[in-house]
Amino acid sequence: MNVLIDSNAERRLWAMIRAVDTEIGGWGYARLSGRDLIWHEVFLVPQEVSPSEVDFEATGGDVAAVERAIKDGVLDDPTFVWVSWHSHHTMDPFWSKTDEARIAGMSKTGITRLLSFVGCHDGDYSLRLDVFDVQAYDISLGHVSLNGLELISDADDEFTAMISREITANVKETKARSWSTTPAGQRSLPAPQHDDDERTLGVSEVFAVSDLMDHDFTYDQAIRALDEIGVEVVDDLIERGELLDPDTMLLQGGRD
Ligand SMILES: [Zn+2]
Repeated sequence: MNVLIDSNAERRLWAMIRAVDTEIGGWGYARLSGRDLIWHEVFLVPQEVSPSEVDFEATGGDVAAVERAIKDGVLDDPTFVWVSWHSHHTMDPFWSKTDEARIAGMSKTGITRLLSFVGCHDGDYSLRLDVFDVQAYDISLGHVSLNGLELISDADDEFTAMISREITANVKETKARSWSTTPAGQRSLPAPQHDDDERTLGVSEVFAVSDLMDHDFTYDQAIRALDEIGVEVVDDLIERGELLDPDTMLLQGGRD
């Protein structure tokens, strides 16, 4: 079983754990998806904390979590899994006797599946899934723990995937000199006119293409001019004001 955590929940989890030098804890939501568990929500509830303990009972923290889950409508989802998390700050991420007792006690609350997480400032953690009502072949196995689970960052959240697609579609790396040597505002990059144009231009070529397009060349005509007479000749012609129109310069070419 993989446990994936979405990037927003992951950032919230570690920010909360690292914000204080005491224990701190809270609840979260996960859902079963095929053979995976997806942990997608992390939140705090009222609590009292010390370096060695976090107490939700005196503050009604657990009740607050259930009230929130009802409001969020997650309890009606058959794939829903509660997440209980807390911090061991600068200690190790082990399950203390208190932690074990709290997890076992959850079976009496009607919770059937519980993902538990204990994390530390340095990024160490332990993760386990407890299932309290296991039945197999009509035999009740009661409480089963899956220990030592690994938490996988879900970089494939929609926002990250969208940015990656946009970068792939638009951005190509050139082997060019630094852009900082270019006087600001003098030149602009020509936009390729065909999506299937895979050519990657060096900076000097980009400037030449840009200049040619200022002189009524299309992008494709500019590229052909570079191929036929070279960047230096193009630069030279432009500098001397001797650049001809595209049809005259590209003898073999018709219009694109
Ligand atoms: Zn603990």
